[in-house]
Amino acid sequence: MPPAPRRYHPGVTTAACLDPALSTAPLDILQQVFGYPAFRGLQQAVVQHVTAGGDALVLMPTGGGKSLCYQVPAIARHRAGQGVTLVVSPLIALMHDQVGALDEAGVKSAFLNSTLDGDEARRVERMLMSGELVLLYAAPERILTPRFLAMLDSLHERGLLSLLAIDEAHCVSQWGHDFREEYLGLSELHERFPTVPRIALTATADAHTRADIVERLALDAAAQFVASFDRPNIRYTIVEKDDAKRQLLRFLRDEHEGDAGIVYCQSRKKVEDTAAWLQAEGFTALPYHAGLEADVRKRNQDRFLRDEGVVMVATVAFGMGIDKPDVRFVAHLDLPKNIEGYYQETGRAGRDGLAADAWMAYGLADVVNQRRMIDDGEAGEEFKRLQRTKLDALLALAEAHDCRRVRLLAYFDEASEPCGNCDNCLNPPAVWDATDAARKALSCIYRFHQQSGFGFGAGHLVDVLRGKVTEKVTQRGHERLSTFGIGADIAEAQWRSVLRQLIALGHVRSVGEFNTLELTESARAVLRGEVPVQLRVPAEAPPRGRRSRSGGGRGAVDKPPPLPLDEAGLARFAALKAWRAEVAKSHNLPAYVVFHDATLAEMAREAPDTLDALAGISGVGGKKLQAYGEDLLRVLASG
Ligand code: ADP
Ligand code: ZN
Repeated sequence: MPPAPRRYHPGVTTAACLDPALSTAPLDILQQVFGYPAFRGLQQAVVQHVTAGGDALVLMPTGGGKSLCYQVPAIARHRAGQGVTLVVSPLIALMHDQVGALDEAGVKSAFLNSTLDGDEARRVERMLMSGELVLLYAAPERILTPRFLAMLDSLHERGLLSLLAIDEAHCVSQWGHDFREEYLGLSELHERFPTVPRIALTATADAHTRADIVERLALDAAAQFVASFDRPNIRYTIVEKDDAKRQLLRFLRDEHEGDAGIVYCQSRKKVEDTAAWLQAEGFTALPYHAGLEADVRKRNQDRFLRDEGVVMVATVAFGMGIDKPDVRFVAHLDLPKNIEGYYQETGRAGRDGLAADAWMAYGLADVVNQRRMIDDGEAGEEFKRLQRTKLDALLALAEAHDCRRVRLLAYFDEASEPCGNCDNCLNPPAVWDATDAARKALSCIYRFHQQSGFGFGAGHLVDVLRGKVTEKVTQRGHERLSTFGIGADIAEAQWRSVLRQLIALGHVRSVGEFNTLELTESARAVLRGEVPVQLRVPAEAPPRGRRSRSGGGRGAVDKPPPLPLDEAGLARFAALKAWRAEVAKSHNLPAYVVFHDATLAEMAREAPDTLDALAGISGVGGKKLQAYGEDLLRVLASG
């Protein structure tokens, strides 16, 4: 076949020449290059706006599909002769896989970062300057070097600087959780190239951060696209901590045998212990925290991305920029700092749109610890107050007896209806009127101070309330207190939940090295019986059984999960996965970059036997069809 005729653009180097056979229509690009039948949510509006040269600020939850918001315009604009899209990303680890995925889809792209040696970097720079690159990923500190800016100047003069995409744009805000100094310098790009359109993207939703992004990146004239932050395929569950390890084990065994997932712990030590224990229980579990050697961290992260069914046990140091789509669960063994953190961490589950779990075990000690960490921190009083307010919002979520999702979304100023896919919707908890119990606990704390001049911890308080004669009780003469034994009718676990709620609500404070309990100002109203206290009945979580993969309750999962496969389908699925593992290995890429599980599952179910039929599977783009089509048909026929 003769090469396709080429059209030349005036003033543009031959390398940037156009192929008229290539459409610049966004939907064509989505279908032909990425193999997806339709845009999701706001993607189409964003893509149209940016392709036409408008500035945009895009707020979408993790897994919302932000990458395509700049990748499709980048391809359209490159095909129209407008040159390269520069993608600013803080995450070196991610660039490699993003570029790998684009390469698999046949889109010419590259990254520039410190992992390249001199020769490799020069090769990328040559490709950049020739105009052949569609996308270039680079870290901000690299971009702002005089040398790199001079290259951009040259591209711009030739009309080949098409678009600036600023990923993880919240890094520019000190208010947010991942502030990066280097991001502040990015305003210089706009001053230098005021006519080049920009798109800034983030999954951080709060209004303050958004305002910071607009101000610091001078995006006041940009159109704002704010997607719903709901992740309907994620099921939220928060259980009362009883024996957290055992609870976690049951959750994993019952619902996630063989699945990839993340278990978050607060301390490095707990990460190590938990990982070792899960290994002993037969899981492929790996630790990750900032105290590990860099090469161990990298190795563990690579295994999580590349192998199947790895459980990563980690501190929050892990996760930023992990775009593995098939993380089936995120579990918290300790309380995160605030709802933003919780939402971002849990958001790493189920990016592929299939059913996933966000599971957390939470107890009294968590509340006490988090409060203490704020109190003992170095921060100024104003910042501490803010942290406390944020923690309170998270505690209210944990204690809630109504829909978790409604509360989460309300936190991000989004109104919604009960979801049918959280623990409280699925198993509405029983509540009891704990007003009386709360008053008993508060007055007992009051008596401690009155009698001894100082407070005591939760354990001793519960003993006194339940009328238990311990050494400490007799030593202190607490059996003579009027509150001794007034709560004998309430079980110990239930008392703990009362105390937790009282601390969570801010009526009781725990102070000092021994976590002694003190009343706060607001305790008075509760003591006087003016504030009713409603609590969930602490119950053993009902056995949930293994959930079918067909997704959550009313769950408006926007993409149908793969239907259950019959025996032949399962055999084909297994054969496809084995084939994928080999391809991924030989390309040095994670398996999901070759094809998502969902795509393989659809192939296994539909069993296409022609290239045309194969092209109809979501996720099979033109390049992949060409590269793998024949192989896949063979695997399907034999599997
Ligand atoms: P984000 O960066 O917003 O967290 P990604 O861009 O990584 O999300 O997209 C999440 C997943 O959804 C990716 O695996 C991507 O391939 C897939 N995806 C995005 N848009 C679509 C679409 N329109 N149709 C099908 N899959 C999509
Ligand atoms: Zn719900």
